[in-house]
Amino acid sequence: MLYKRSSALFAEAKKYIPGGVNSPVRAFNSVGGEPIFVKQAKGAYIYDEDDRTYIDYIASWGPMILGHAFEPVVNSVIEKAALGTSFGIPTKIETDIAKLAISMVPNIDKIRFVNSGTEACMSAVRLARGFTSKDKIIKFAGCYHGHSDSFLIQAGSGAVTFGSPNSPGVTQGTAKDTLLANYNDLESVKQLIDANAGEIAAIILEPVAGNMGCVIPQEGFLKGLRGLCDQHEILLIFDEVMTGFRLAKGGAQEFLGIDADIVTFGKVIGGGLPVGAFAARDEIMSFLAPLGPVYQAGTLSGNPLAMAAGFAMLNHLSQNPEVFQSLTDKTAYLHKGLQQALSKTQVPNTINTIGSMISVHFTEEVVDFKTAANGNNEYFKKFFHGMLREGIYLPPSAFESWFLNDALSYQDLDRTIEAASKVVNSF
Ligand SMILES: *Cc1c(COP(=O)(O)O)cnc(C)c1O
Repeated sequence: MLYKRSSALFAEAKKYIPGGVNSPVRAFNSVGGEPIFVKQAKGAYIYDEDDRTYIDYIASWGPMILGHAFEPVVNSVIEKAALGTSFGIPTKIETDIAKLAISMVPNIDKIRFVNSGTEACMSAVRLARGFTSKDKIIKFAGCYHGHSDSFLIQAGSGAVTFGSPNSPGVTQGTAKDTLLANYNDLESVKQLIDANAGEIAAIILEPVAGNMGCVIPQEGFLKGLRGLCDQHEILLIFDEVMTGFRLAKGGAQEFLGIDADIVTFGKVIGGGLPVGAFAARDEIMSFLAPLGPVYQAGTLSGNPLAMAAGFAMLNHLSQNPEVFQSLTDKTAYLHKGLQQALSKTQVPNTINTIGSMISVHFTEEVVDFKTAANGNNEYFKKFFHGMLREGIYLPPSAFESWFLNDALSYQDLDRTIEAASKVVNSF
C-alpha cells in the first residue's frame, strides 16, 4: 500500500479532529481517497510520512512563493522566537513590515495586521460599512473571502466542494445583506445596484479569482466595477489574499492597473505563518479603532513571529522583484507543456493561467462559477490521483488554483508535464 502511514495517521486524526483535518479541503472529499500526511518540505518538494516525494503545486495554498523552508524566513522566525513569542504590547517589527508593505503596494497609506485572510476580509467589510454608513455588500458567486458569515452565501472553494453553498448556521438576517453577482458580468452588478439604490457599502471580489480554479477578469470587467463604484459611492474591495505579493510586488492592483479602495491580504504576507492584513488610504483607515469608531482587535495580531516571517518574505520579494517574472515564465512554460499533454486526450479541457496561478479544467471554457462548475469532476479525480501517484501534488479540488513557487526548476516542470502526458493517456 502506497500511503500506509498516512492512512493510519488519518484514521487516528479522525478520532480527535472532525473529519481528521483542520480545514475541509485537506480531507480529499472532492477527489475521493485519503489525504497524505506531510512530514517535511524543502524548496519545491514535500515529503510524506511514507517517505514519498512530491513536486508541490499548492505551496501551502500560496504563501510559500519562494519554496518551502525558505532560509531567510526560517532564520528570522528562529531568532525572534528566542526573544519571546508574544507580548500584546507594540513592537518595532510591526512598523517595519507595515512600512515595507505600504512601499510595495500602490494606493494604500495605512495597514492593519490580523491573523488570517478571513479576519482581513470580514474586517474590511465592517470598515466599509462604517465608512459609508450603508449595510449591503455585493460579492461574486465562486469568489471566496474566508469563512465568516457574510461571505458564506453560495461561496466557492470549500463550500462548493462540499455541495452546501449556504452553510447552516448563517442566519437569514446576515444573508440578506450579501448580494450575489456573476463574475465577469457587469450587467449583473448594475442590476443589483439599481435594485438596491443607495444601500450598497462595498463590492468585494478577487481581482483574479482563484477559488473556482483560476478565473481571469475579462477586459473591461474590473474597470467597469471601478466606474460603478465611483458613480454610486461604493467602496471597491480587492481581496488580494491570493494575488497580493504574488502577481506582482504590488499585487493585482499593480499587475492589472486598477485601484481599489480597500485591499485585503493573507497567504504570502505571512511567509507561512498565520497573517492577514487590510489596507486603504488614510481617509478610510482613520475610521478604525482606536482612531475612529469602527472596532477591530486581536490579541495575537502583529505578533513578533508572524511579523518576522512576513517581513523576511516581503523583504526578499521587494529586493528581488525579478522573482515575479521568473514565476510568470515558469508558469507559461508549464501551461504550454500541459496543453500539449492534454491535446492527446479527447476529453474537453481548458487551462487558465495568469502570473504564477494556473488551473486545468475539464470543460471548454471557464469564465465564472457556472462555467467552472461544468467541469467534468470524474476526469479531474482521475487526473488528480494519477498525478499524485506520479509524485505531483496538485490541489485536491477542481475549484482551486495551483500556485507555482520559485524553487521549481525547469526539470521539475518537465517531470510534471511528462506525468500529465502519462496520466491523460490512461484516460
Ligand atoms: C485563502 C483566502 C481567504 C481566506 O484566508 P484564510 O487565511 O484561509 O482565512 C480569503 N480570500 C481569498 C481570496 C483566499 O484565497
